[in-house]
Amino acid sequence: MGLFSKKPPCPICGGKISWFLSSKIEGEYICDSCYGKIDMEDDKKNHLTMQGFRDYLAFYEQNQQLKDKFVISERIDFGILDTKIIFDYQNKLFCMSKNPDKTVFEGEQLKYFTIKEDNTLLFEGSAAGIKRYTSTVIERAMAMAPQISQFMMNRQMTRTLDKLDDGKVNGSATPMQFFDIPEPFDKFNVKLCFDHPYWKVIKCDMDGPRFDNTTPDVNDYLRSYQSNMEEIEKLVAAFKTVAFPRAQEQSIGFGGNVGTVGTIQTTETPHVDAIEEIKKYKALMEEGIITHQEFDAKKRQLLGI
Ligand SMILES: [Zn+2]
Repeated sequence: MGLFSKKPPCPICGGKISWFLSSKIEGEYICDSCYGKIDMEDDKKNHLTMQGFRDYLAFYEQNQQLKDKFVISERIDFGILDTKIIFDYQNKLFCMSKNPDKTVFEGEQLKYFTIKEDNTLLFEGSAAGIKRYTSTVIERAMAMAPQISQFMMNRQMTRTLDKLDDGKVNGSATPMQFFDIPEPFDKFNVKLCFDHPYWKVIKCDMDGPRFDNTTPDVNDYLRSYQSNMEEIEKLVAAFKTVAFPRAQEQSIGFGGNVGTVGTIQTTETPHVDAIEEIKKYKALMEEGIITHQEFDAKKRQLLGI
């Protein structure tokens, strides 16, 4: 038995087994082409038996029919790792890829989904309804304006002092200052829960907006947030179309059952003049940073009506 001794053919298709790094199931070598068909949760994949693999291949052949009839109606790009989700509205299908080359899910296999800003619920959807929770991100970003002005003033001051110093001592310039106060949230977290033989949960995330670390600006932040939210809204609408077409939508405000909403930042600013706040939001709406609905919701909330 030398290094190049022949491996037995693939027990599934009789094909050739590559001579290095070949995959095994229950100690038997499987050809790359058969093994490459596996698309299931890691835990299930790691415990796959030969019989389990044969059952999976039957499922795979069936799923091929869904791949064949898949017509892409909507494609949503998600996050920097380039997660893409495609939807087929006609056949009520979706697939976590840019082409229907991975497992295609039928809408009814999705039991529910949640979308959070870090750990704070933003959307929750199931056949029972699509719930939209009030986000505090916009006002928390706006509450950072004084810190940001302070940073910009300090930075300007340092620059001016450096200019006055110029030429006196070599290399004495103050190091560049960077804005390092954390954003109102880090990521949008999406969780999909299935009733499916090979998938229970799929999680993916999308980075929230970031402040520029040399010239942070609240309006820039809100503009990026707005475009992120447009993608999120598209995603929610797409899941509703394929999975919960009859679900009612409802908005849940601060009086709702979300314990994590209402963070330190918002409770620290109780002396807000409602009218002044509304004016600020109106300006944001006029600049196209927030929508008319968002403005109305904010107005009602501030006026307590
Ligand atoms: Zn094979």
